[in-house]
Formats: sequence, C-alpha cells, structure tokens
Amino acid sequence: MKHYSFCSPDFKAEPYWWDLTPMPRSQASALPDKTDVLIIGSGYTGLHCALQTARAGRNTLVIDTENAGWGCSTRNGGQISGEIKPGYDELSRRHGSADALALIGEARTALDWLGEFVAEQGIDCDYRQCGRYLAAHNPRQFRKLVARAQRQIPGLEQNLRVVEKRNQSSEIDSDYYHGGLVIERHCGLDPARYHQGLLRLAQANGAQVIGHCAALGVERESDGFKVRTSRGSIKARDLVVATNGYTGAVTPWQRRRITPIGSYMLATEPMSQERTDRLMPSGRVFSDTRRIVVYFRRSPDGRRLLFGGRVSVFESDPVRSLPALRQEMLRIFPQLEDVRISHSWMGFVGYTFDTLPHLGVQDGIHYAMGYCGSGICLASYLGNRIGLQLLGKAEGNSAFDQPRFQTRPLYHGKPWFLASAVRYYQLLDRFM
Ligand SMILES: Cc1cc2nc3c(=O)[nH]c(=O)nc-3n(C[C@H](O)[C@H](O)[C@H](O)COP(=O)(O)OP(=O)(O)OC[C@H]3O[C@@H](n4cnc5c(N)ncnc54)[C@H](O)[C@@H]3O)c2cc1C
Repeated sequence: MKHYSFCSPDFKAEPYWWDLTPMPRSQASALPDKTDVLIIGSGYTGLHCALQTARAGRNTLVIDTENAGWGCSTRNGGQISGEIKPGYDELSRRHGSADALALIGEARTALDWLGEFVAEQGIDCDYRQCGRYLAAHNPRQFRKLVARAQRQIPGLEQNLRVVEKRNQSSEIDSDYYHGGLVIERHCGLDPARYHQGLLRLAQANGAQVIGHCAALGVERESDGFKVRTSRGSIKARDLVVATNGYTGAVTPWQRRRITPIGSYMLATEPMSQERTDRLMPSGRVFSDTRRIVVYFRRSPDGRRLLFGGRVSVFESDPVRSLPALRQEMLRIFPQLEDVRISHSWMGFVGYTFDTLPHLGVQDGIHYAMGYCGSGICLASYLGNRIGLQLLGKAEGNSAFDQPRFQTRPLYHGKPWFLASAVRYYQLLDRFM
C-alpha cells in the first residue's frame, strides 16, 4: 500500500471507528427459503426497519453484500443535525409554505426522536448534545449566518448564537474562518458503536442479519417477491431496499434517483488532550458554509482530530485522496503540519436531485434513501417509518413520502454530470 511520510507507521486505510468497534464477523447462516420481510442493506435504515417488523412478530431478514454495517453507517463523521439541505424559502417556492414547515419540522423531530431512542434503549455510543459550530468561509457567508439567526422562521425557531471572528478562539484555534454560528441542538456520536447497539437490538428482537449475501435480482410474484442472492434464492412477502449511496442494478428505479457522492475522512494520530482542547475548546462538531463542505470534530476520547470533506469526484481509494484531504485540514489548522495521519477512509453518500430524502413504495418495493449526508438521524428515523408503514401503522406517515422522486434523462446511476457540478460549486465557494 502507498505510504506517505505524513502517515503514522500503523496507518490504516479503513475507518478509525473500526479500531474500537470491529466489523461483526460474517455469519455462516444458511439463507432461509422464505421470510415475511426481506430488507436489502444493513445500515441504520435497514436495521431500524427490521427492528419494527421483528418486534411486531414478522419474520424479518436483513442481508448485506458485505459485513453488517459495512456501508456509510459505520464510516460517517458522527455529526447529527436533524436538518435537510433546502431551506424554508426554497422549499416554500417548490412545495408551498405548509409543506416546507412540515418537512423541516419533521427532520427536526427526527433529531429529538433519535436522542430519545438511544437513551431509552441504553445504546452506549457517546451520544452527546455538544452543539455545532457552523463556520463562515467568507464575510458574505458570515452576514448570511447573522441574518439567519436574527430572522428565524416562526414555528422553526431554535437556539442559535452568532460568534464574531474576534471572539472565535473560544470555538476554534484557526484564522481561516470569518466567524460562525453555534447551533446548540446538534449532537455527536460514535457511528459504529451506535450501529453495533442497533444491530444487537434488532437481533435480540428476532431479526436475522446475514452478511456477505448480495441481492442479485428481484422478481415480482403473485404473493410477494423472489430475490436471487449470492447465497441462493429467497421468497419474501414484503421487500425493502435500504441501500442508499450503494444502490445498484438490482433496483434500477431507485438507482436512477440516487447520486452516489464520495465523502472522505481522515483521523490524526493521538495528540495531547491539551493540544486538542486548544484546537477546538468547545468540543462541538464543526462544519463550514462551503457548498463543497468540510466537517470535523474531536474523537470521542478527545485525543484526535477526525476531518472529512468532498475532496475528490470519482476516487474510491481513500489513500489516493488523502493528500488533498490533509491539505484541506492544514488550510484550516496549519499548526497540525507535524501531526501524522493514522487512518483514512471514504464512503458513498446518497444524494437526490431535489436534495430531499425520500421514502415510499415503487412496484411494491418499499424504500427510504437519499439523506444527502444527514443520514445518522434521517436514515434511522425514516427506516423506522418504513417499518411502521409495512405494519400498516399511521405513525409511519411522513412528509418525506413525496409523490415525486425525480431522476434526470440519461441518468442510470453513473453521475456523468458530477465533475462539472463540483467545479461549478467550487467556483461559487471561491467567490460567494
Ligand atoms: C465519510 C462519510 C461521512 C458521513 N458523515 C455523516 C455525518 O457526520 N452525519 C450524518 O448524518 N451522516 C453522515 N454521512 C451519511 C450517513 O452515514 C448515511 O446517510 C447513512 O449511514 C445511510 O444509512 P443507510 O442505512 O441508508 O445506508 P448504508 O449504511 O450506506 O448501508 C447500505 C448498505 O447496503 C448494502 N448493499 C448495497 N447493495 C446491496 C445489495 N445488492 N445486496 C445486499 N446489500 C447491499 C451495502 O453493502 C451497505 O452496507 C456520512 C457518510 C460518509 C460516507
């Protein structure tokens, strides 16, 4: 493997989180002939759905091409916002004010719901309401943040605090930003420990989870589905697709609606507590106002910087993308030049053309996906909603069950438009 001088001797090209929570070993279980509910994908979406159906006594099986949780759910940044990408003005223009309030309101509810779920189930995953520092990458964006704090939409108010550049050292030891906004509600967790707790809970409630079992083809039958997998075929009365950024040819309708976008992360080697305290004294999660966003935080033990961003367009090798990501980190924290990198990894975030998550049913197949980088909270919550919908429960209703889930002409899962879109957004970030 390629090794850079700035990497530590024990450098790994896999998620830092997996050091603390190794991937579950692949189970040798045989595939049953049939099941009531078959769920493709074992991340937060799939497991939350499974938890509902298994608890209600439905025979529930979750399969994954890789180990359980191998996708984004054990490799993300651990920052929880309960926010969706489009703001109120844009959503009002598109859907009207009532729907805009419903969509933003439901995403906010999802954050409270997740906090309650983790606490009630006693999942030990370092869940904390630490707040977010949203840093302005230029003065114009800072003015926008000030306006956002001063003119909150009635019914959607939250605790926001503007921080001027001159006072910013209480949040971050960097001259890169022009002030920022503290969003007190936002939270952080250890994503892999959260996934492990959820996996155990789903299994304890009767769900079966089989890793290394790829769904290869789906046939509709009079009483459900026949799914061909790498371990044989299985009949299922209900089928759920929970593959988000890894949605493939097995469900072509969903694949045409999801754009996989690589997100890249690195972990530094451990530093002294004193040093990380100086770097980010408030201990919040951080992101900035760029469209090609970067995000960072301290590791749960407080000793490392975990830094992420969209530094590459099509690269899926996290070692090759590492120099660009480290450069981005050094632009914000030049004082970390001497700190070595111990881990780098990447994963595919599932984007949608309207930048909203979607759940629903197409050709009898239930789905929830397209969290646009905010999936810890939304994948969990919407996974739970499809589970409830399958059980015919009214609580499964959601504003994200939108009738229109857009695609684009000639789009079949390979985002040919991504490189030019990224260049355009980089240009906007430079000047706006
Ligand atoms: C680097 C990175 C950082 C991120 N940071 C954050 C963050 O800080 N906050 C946040 O809220 N979100 C973040 N996200 C996004 C978040 O992790 C995802 O939105 C969320 O985990 C999606 O969960 P999921 O269950 O829908 O999908 P995933 O966890 O991706 O699971 C999908 C699974 O489907 C499986 N699969 C695909 N096809 C098949 C098939 N044919 N047969 C069987 N299995 C199949 C895959 O192997 C995969 O395991 C980040 C993502 C990445 C990559």
